[in-house]
Amino acid sequence: MLKIRNGNVLINGKFRKTNIYAEKGIIREITPRDLASSETIDAFGKVVIPGIIDPHVHFELQQGEFKTSGDFETACKMALSRGVTTVIDYIPAGESDFRKEPAFINYSFHKVVGKGFNTKDIIRFIKAGISSFKAFTTYGKSGLMLDDGNMLDLMAAVKKHNAVIEVHCENDSVIEHNMNALSPGAGSPDSARPPIAEIEAVSRMCLFALNTGARTHIVHVSCPESIGVIKEYVKRGAAVTCETCPQYVFLDDSLLHGPEWPLYASCPPLRSAERSRKMRELLLKGSIDMISTDHCSFEKELKLKHTDVRNMPYGIPSAGYSALLFLELFGMKRAGTMSFLMSRNPAAVFGIEKRGLIKKGYWADLVILSPCSKEKLDIPPYDTSGYCPFGAFSSSYAVETVIVNGFKAFERGTVFTKNGSFLPRTV
Ligand SMILES: [Zn+2]
Repeated sequence: MLKIRNGNVLINGKFRKTNIYAEKGIIREITPRDLASSETIDAFGKVVIPGIIDPHVHFELQQGEFKTSGDFETACKMALSRGVTTVIDYIPAGESDFRKEPAFINYSFHKVVGKGFNTKDIIRFIKAGISSFKAFTTYGKSGLMLDDGNMLDLMAAVKKHNAVIEVHCENDSVIEHNMNALSPGAGSPDSARPPIAEIEAVSRMCLFALNTGARTHIVHVSCPESIGVIKEYVKRGAAVTCETCPQYVFLDDSLLHGPEWPLYASCPPLRSAERSRKMRELLLKGSIDMISTDHCSFEKELKLKHTDVRNMPYGIPSAGYSALLFLELFGMKRAGTMSFLMSRNPAAVFGIEKRGLIKKGYWADLVILSPCSKEKLDIPPYDTSGYCPFGAFSSSYAVETVIVNGFKAFERGTVFTKNGSFLPRTV
């Protein structure tokens, strides 16, 4: 039996000084009593939180002509070193095979639905443990966008099979119109993709969700106005949830007009400082269901080489910073809320069973953090992007040990064996 001794353990939102006992991957006992154990990790003076579940990452992605840096394995190690124990990646449109072998952390996939997807295929994926489907209201040119009719069909099918639809919300025609008005090499990501493009698409998808009754999850919300719309529809009975990412909470569009601006190009783009301040407020108030990262890592050189907003690698490496950034923002007093947003809620919405909480009978996915002198965030181990988008922010904690499925997976810079596996989901 593995014993994690005398830590400040986050149990259902509150810290308690106690021991955790795990065997065969499962938390068997949480008690201050001394029980027999074969291995002990001393957590005295440290904080123990549930492993982070990042429900939106792109660990290995071909984005048009651009390929993300590193591979699935390096990305898993990088995320693990910063407290992530489970991720949900994506099965590209038109593909149905997916990885199932052991990995450094647990993982699952959402299925991307592009133009031409047969809604009858939903059943096949659900049977294989893939119960969430991602659709786009933009990227019409690359064939990813679903028109409104197909979107309604997909929502009806998702509702019928009690699955979840995820939607990337940006109005394609607004973006295309703006892109066409730019001369080559001109413009910035924020000028081509204004807030109204997101707000309009979020409104439309919420209306569709209300109409079809489909459980709908809006990914990477960047504007506080979109959150307002979602809350209104939830009040009216729509089954809509949403997520935001560290880049929309901590960074702002001033970076898109600085010297290394392509490093910060993402879709949707970074918004104004005022909007990111409001996103922080909404998060702290509990108006946002969960935190994801939309982690998408391209090499620094590749990012800087491409400056035409019509064709550049979009995405920000953020999975290695999220836990430390939000722990600092929420503080120890509100770490319970932070943990609900980063572990419990993604598990609940996406059907990841018996994870996301430190609880008897749950899987032992745990992060042990030690307090340290407040230091600026640095590139995580195993990073392959070569830059740190959150270098302006500090953390007073360091990830010391990470337990995945009851086994020590990471300690002080060292990654051990592959304890993680594919997690089939039912929602
Ligand atoms: Zn994404």
